[in-house]
Amino acid sequence: MFLLRRLLSSAAAAAGASRGPPPIRVALTESSGRGVFATRPVAAGELLHSAEPLVSHPAPSLLHEVCYICLRRKAAKEGRGSSGGGGYFCSDACREHAKGFHDVGKRVDWSLFDEHCSSRGLKYPYMAKRLACMVISGAASADCLNILQPARLHQGTLIEMEEEFLLLESAFRKAGFQEEVRKFLTKEWYINVLARIRINAFRVELIASSYEDLLTSAAASVSCDASVGNAVYMLPSFYNHDCDPNTHIVWLENANVKLKALRDIEEGMEKCSLSEELRICYIDTSMDVHARQKILEDGFGFQCRCLRCLSGD
Ligand SMILES: [Zn+2]
Ligand SMILES: [Zn+2]
Repeated sequence: MFLLRRLLSSAAAAAGASRGPPPIRVALTESSGRGVFATRPVAAGELLHSAEPLVSHPAPSLLHEVCYICLRRKAAKEGRGSSGGGGYFCSDACREHAKGFHDVGKRVDWSLFDEHCSSRGLKYPYMAKRLACMVISGAASADCLNILQPARLHQGTLIEMEEEFLLLESAFRKAGFQEEVRKFLTKEWYINVLARIRINAFRVELIASSYEDLLTSAAASVSCDASVGNAVYMLPSFYNHDCDPNTHIVWLENANVKLKALRDIEEGMEKCSLSEELRICYIDTSMDVHARQKILEDGFGFQCRCLRCLSGD
């Protein structure tokens, strides 16, 4: 009981500290493009900020198990019957939030597109499809992901994307959407969007436990449920990677993500006008250096030169 009270009071302290503007800023780093920095000393366990997705999508196999919008898991007692056609909504707020673009999506026969993606195990095209519906409904602008860094794409990938685009475009065309409302939907748009989703989408893994665990966990890896889906964010995408990160990115019950300091972080570094950079780990920190290097190179297109990698750990 005493422990619980202590945890709750530290939770309240963290919440109090997180009121007002978050203690971070985005600025240029010396070698990794943009990065995120603390604007004041930050204590271990402090919540830096949270963020809502720009675009999210449930894992294709969980469409009827997690919320169409916030990726919250359906409670076991809700049964399987309440999701109806086209996805499950956990609340009226999520249903309302999705209304415009969910209605656009429902007008389209997605069978060819979905079949194409599911037979190849693709998940990101579903996010591009949702974004296209959001643009048509007015819920998002066609260029809303442009601020994010794009992945470098190989020729083979471009050819695959072209196939996906043709299926997406023809699905909208066959559903009777006028050229006027789908004029943004070009091959270039699709490739641009996918290039950004590929390296900026986070695998959303909800922590099965509680807020207290978030505040007390010292390690970057907390036991998680399997992924419930993917989401792209604005600010969290500006964090650079480190295999021994000082910041943890975490999801509790839904896709609204929280960023938490893993250790005390100084505001400034010696002979450096910028504060210490806040970095998250893009991958599983428990892998060895060779496995990490390979995944970062293949998946994110860079060679990690963090202190942990340089030490061979
Ligand atoms: Zn929801
Ligand atoms: Zn590294």
